[in-house]
Amino acid sequence: MATKIHSGVIYLGNSSFTDSIYVSDDGIVINVEMYESSQTKSQIDLSNAFLSPAFRDAHSHPLFAGRESRGLDIADCRSEIELKVKLKRYAEENPELTWIDAAVFDRSLEMRFDRATLDKAVDDRPVVLHGDDHHTLWVNSKALEVAGLLNGALPTLESGSIDLDEEGLPTGILREWPAMSLVMNLAPKLTIEEHVSALLWSDRTMAAAGIVECVDAWIDKGMAETYLAAWRTGNLNLDYTLAFRADPKTFLEDLPYFIEQRKFLEQTRGQIRGTSIKFFADGVFGSASALVKEPYLSTGAHGQAIWPEKEFKEAITSAHTNGFQIHIHAIGDAATSLCLDILADLQDLTLAPVIAHAELTDQNLLYRMSALGVIACVQPYWAQNNGLLLSCEDHLGQERIERLYAFRDMFETGITTVFSSDWPISSYEPIKGLAVAVNRREHSQQPEHNINQAVSVEQALNAYSTNVKLMLKDKATGTLEIGQPFDAVVLDQNLFEVGNQNLQATKVLATYKAGKEIFRANP
Ligand SMILES: [Zn+2]
Repeated sequence: MATKIHSGVIYLGNSSFTDSIYVSDDGIVINVEMYESSQTKSQIDLSNAFLSPAFRDAHSHPLFAGRESRGLDIADCRSEIELKVKLKRYAEENPELTWIDAAVFDRSLEMRFDRATLDKAVDDRPVVLHGDDHHTLWVNSKALEVAGLLNGALPTLESGSIDLDEEGLPTGILREWPAMSLVMNLAPKLTIEEHVSALLWSDRTMAAAGIVECVDAWIDKGMAETYLAAWRTGNLNLDYTLAFRADPKTFLEDLPYFIEQRKFLEQTRGQIRGTSIKFFADGVFGSASALVKEPYLSTGAHGQAIWPEKEFKEAITSAHTNGFQIHIHAIGDAATSLCLDILADLQDLTLAPVIAHAELTDQNLLYRMSALGVIACVQPYWAQNNGLLLSCEDHLGQERIERLYAFRDMFETGITTVFSSDWPISSYEPIKGLAVAVNRREHSQQPEHNINQAVSVEQALNAYSTNVKLMLKDKATGTLEIGQPFDAVVLDQNLFEVGNQNLQATKVLATYKAGKEIFRANP
């Protein structure tokens, strides 16, 4: 049945608008003649709502977010007392849990981030709290004990660190995955059904935010299998591109597995693609572990490279020659520079490499990215004065803080810039990211963060839709032009007319993927 959608403002992408759009029974945008000649017809009245190309999230972690949603939510705890009360009550109400997992704690709060604090709430089983950067764990003594970290000798780590107190014992703070995994690898394993239900929860949550496609930027062994099992239920709504995580210790052994998984996922006929490999070049600013050209004001050091340079180059080159899209986490300016040096030597960059985050840049780096055709995959929601930014200030100093998140320069330098959430590190809702990208703040009480780097509504929409399709080098363009899949989001207000300060209040009313309604808000 062909459908006519009318009585609203319809943004097609590429700066064009219309008031009616026609969709074929197989979910493709068609012209009015094709609609008129169709045997059966239906109509959808937008009632003055605004329809736009659906959102696409270029870097997210839906499976992690889904798992995290199963544990205790501590994001609203603003004090040590609140946190302890909540943990204690949760432990009492769930005596059968052998392990307590909670997310996320705000690292900018005034708290004693040590194991003794958590022990006062729960000391009979491991308690693991995830930091809001997802690069920090705060654990109690029991967790350290089961991981064997309270016996004196500590393992040597490739990167990351275990904070120590004056007596040389772990404080309970673990930084970066090599340290975090010492505890996390001991967490009770979920069943495949539990993994699948976590993923399907994330899938529904994203559909309700207007998202039809997402790149999962951290796939470890077993996760592609979860995606496939979720696909087999027939309830997976979105399209996914999976980025297998390259571990410096095991990459060469893992590569054949990634290739095999990529092939295996072809049975989903394009709904799930295993076509990307994720590398980490550096850490994060909050732990002074991102690679910077000028030393940190706090430590005097330049951060930590995740890979030895020679191995890094070899690994990226072999991922590239095996046809994978390169997706590199690079936060500091020195990390981006290092990546560009390596990428410049690759042959044939038709599948454009992606630099994720690119938080601290300068004009010279942006010119180099543009010249190489490298994609900037950034997180607009971070470009605001909040706890995340504050946690970087002592390390970076004011001049570099101002230079963070240079989105407008990225667009103006001609870099294909894509927006993403990095969920669960920050909100999955594109509307929130879009509003911050345009306003450089989330609400009117906040001071703006470098307003010169604000982008337009149209640039932000493109970064959440058409540019992601350019990044993935798909045939579909992400627009609503004739011949394209009807992937659309219906919003309660026209983003181009509502006034920038009101953008964040926009509500998602419905989401369509290839003509199928995958979300509708309750009236
Ligand atoms: Zn990420």
